[in-house]
This record gives sequence, structure tokens and C-alpha cells, in this order.
Amino acid sequence: MKTYQVDQEGYYGEFGGAFVPEILHRCVEELRNAYLRIMESDDFKQEFNNLLRDYVGRPSPLYPAKRLSEKYGCRIYLKREDLNHTGAHKINNAIGQALIARRMGKKRIIAETGAGQHGVAAATVCALMGMECVVYMGKTDVERQYANVQRMKMLGAKVVPVTSGNMTLKDATNEAIRDWCCHPSDTYYIIGSTVGPHPYPDMVARLQSVISEEIRKQLMEHEGRDYPDYLIACIGGGSNAAGTVYHYIDDERVKIVLAEAGGKGIDTPLSAATIHLGLPGIIHGSRTLVMQDEDGQIQEPYSISAGLDYPGVGPMHANLAKQHRAAVLAVNDDEAVRAAFELTRLEGIIPALESAHALGALGKLRFRRDDLVVLTVSGRGDKDMDTYLKF
Ligand SMILES: *Cc1c(COP(=O)(O)O)cnc(C)c1O
Repeated sequence: MKTYQVDQEGYYGEFGGAFVPEILHRCVEELRNAYLRIMESDDFKQEFNNLLRDYVGRPSPLYPAKRLSEKYGCRIYLKREDLNHTGAHKINNAIGQALIARRMGKKRIIAETGAGQHGVAAATVCALMGMECVVYMGKTDVERQYANVQRMKMLGAKVVPVTSGNMTLKDATNEAIRDWCCHPSDTYYIIGSTVGPHPYPDMVARLQSVISEEIRKQLMEHEGRDYPDYLIACIGGGSNAAGTVYHYIDDERVKIVLAEAGGKGIDTPLSAATIHLGLPGIIHGSRTLVMQDEDGQIQEPYSISAGLDYPGVGPMHANLAKQHRAAVLAVNDDEAVRAAFELTRLEGIIPALESAHALGALGKLRFRRDDLVVLTVSGRGDKDMDTYLKF
């Protein structure tokens, strides 16, 4: 059967694989040999599920958004990842990977972060489990995201400002990989999205797949059927979207809509719409679509939303787009902000700027009255208040 899931070699169609320096080959191979065995063990499943329930607060509600539904002429449910501990979906993945690291005998955790959301999730989990945590963050981002830096420090993590390149996420990632090369035996690298060398994209998608597992059960309870007509999510690296679509990826009754960050517009130099603008290339250890110039140099992306401001995209999503399994829409800064205000005024929910891009896709689609739409609100907007009020 045709599947959009990863194949034996770690590819989604032509995208994926593991392109890492020689010295890391063993680490990646070790993880590849261990992750499925660990994740499928009863011991892991029990500890992971207990923490998701008692610590994260799962299942997250599937909320029927009545006034939003009236506005768009269909039946919209919101999957409320914003209600998780630490305010977004990233904690699901961070907990899972820390449990895997522990079972592999690793004592030291490293992570990279752009906006600081993944850094906070990693630092949170390390505090919970009593593990050492080092977070690499571009110096520009350290200055821009001061509140998250303070949170990570209070949680006991060491935040290392990176001063190479543009001093943003891509440079922090390079530095994290360099650290991993220096400490391959005792260190585990927690990647925050469905990116990086195989098996990371598949592992992160599986850890986030609790989202679609819950959607299935909750839709059944609400509607007496276990699948929607549409699934909508925003994509930076693609982890909340991967979790949202995971159990429906090969179910063609379900239409998948992915919203990427258009920035000021895909016809301007200020955009982060990687699927619209990118070309095949290698970034962060995998073959995927990359925003690059004619010399293959990575182009600095731009989005109003720090979490979507990434010049690559997960290989799963590059393939979903290429095979036309998913419709990919670019949602611009102003459209996202307008959608965030709309949700706030209609439903009393202030979404993260990232999630606002998924909401911005609603106005670009044509629904029928009885269409069942599930849209993932990946995080809450507390961190974005300054941006919203300035706009
Ligand atoms: C990090 C983040 C994203 C983007 O990451 P994905 O891996 O694409 O999900 C989206 N929403 C929120 C709230 C985030 O913190």
C-alpha cells in the first residue's frame, strides 16, 4: 500500500535521510536502533502516558468553537494544545525524548532553540528528571526572547549565546551539533521539531501523534464518527502538524491543510514560506526543501512569529506537499494577526502567533455547511502580547 509515513531508510519520498558528520554517525545509528524498541516497550508507554496525563494535563480538549463555526459556515473544532503545561505542544516531544535518553543511559541533554519555546520545554523536562541541560541560542534571539531565557535559567538550564553567523536558530543548531560531536557518548540531543537526521522526524512525529490519537477518540464522542473532513495546522519545522495528521495521513477522506509563514508576502524578500519558496537541499542533517540563494547558501527567513521563522521544513511535510497530499497555504503576518484577534473576540482564546497562521488559513478555504474541521491551536498567546498590541 502507498504510505506517506517514513520508509525503512528514513525517507519520505525523496526527502529525509541522515546527512551527518562522520563522528556523529555512530550516535545517530545508536538512536535509530533504539528508538522504536524503547517507544514500543510497556515500561516506556506507561511512564510517558502517565506524565502526559498528570504533568502535561492531557488529553487536551477538543473544543467545538460555535461562534467561529458560524463565521466560516462549517463545523470547527479546536484541538487545544495551548492548554498544555508550558503552553504549547512542544512539551509532549521533550518529555518523550528525555525518557528515551534516560533509557539509553545518557545523562546530559543539549537542545537548540530559536524563540526559546523548545528550550523552555527541554529545560522543564530536565528539571523534572534531574538531568543536566545546555541550551544553545543565537545571541540575537537571547536578546529578543529575554523572558524565555530567564525561565530556562530558573529551571536550571545553562543557556549558551551563539555568536556565529546571523546569531539565530540556524547558528544555534550548528553549535548544538558541534557540542554533540564533542560528547557523543554521554550526551543526548533533543531536537524540537520533525527535522534533523533520521530517525528524528519519525520519532518526533510519533511522540506528537498523541494529538491525532486523541482527536480520533474525541470526534467519536462528539460526532459519532472518528475522522474530520479537514485537518488544519501551522508548520514551522512541522511537529504540531505531524502530530495532528499522524493517524490520518493515509486516510484520503481527510483533507490536510498546512499553513506556513508568508511573512510580508511570498513575493517579497521577507518570508518564511519554505514550501512555496524553497528548493531541495540539505539542512540540519536531512534532505528537504530549503530557502537558499543561487549558490545554495541558506537564506535568512522572516516571519512575525519566531516559532515559524525557520529556513527548512520537515521532510514529511515536503513530501506531503510534493505529492499533493496536503494543500499548503502561505499566511502573511497581517492575516495571522487579524485571525488571532478574531479568535480572541469570538471565542475568548488568545492563540500563539504560530497558531494564528493556521487560523488565517480558514478564510482562504471554501467549506460546505456540514464540513467537519479540526484545527490545532498549537500554543497560547501570552508570549506574543507585545507583538499583538503593537500591531
Ligand atoms: C514551536 C512552535 C510552533 C512551530 O513548530 P512546529 O514544529 O512546526 O510545530 C508552532 N506553534 C507553537 C506554539 C510553537 O511554540
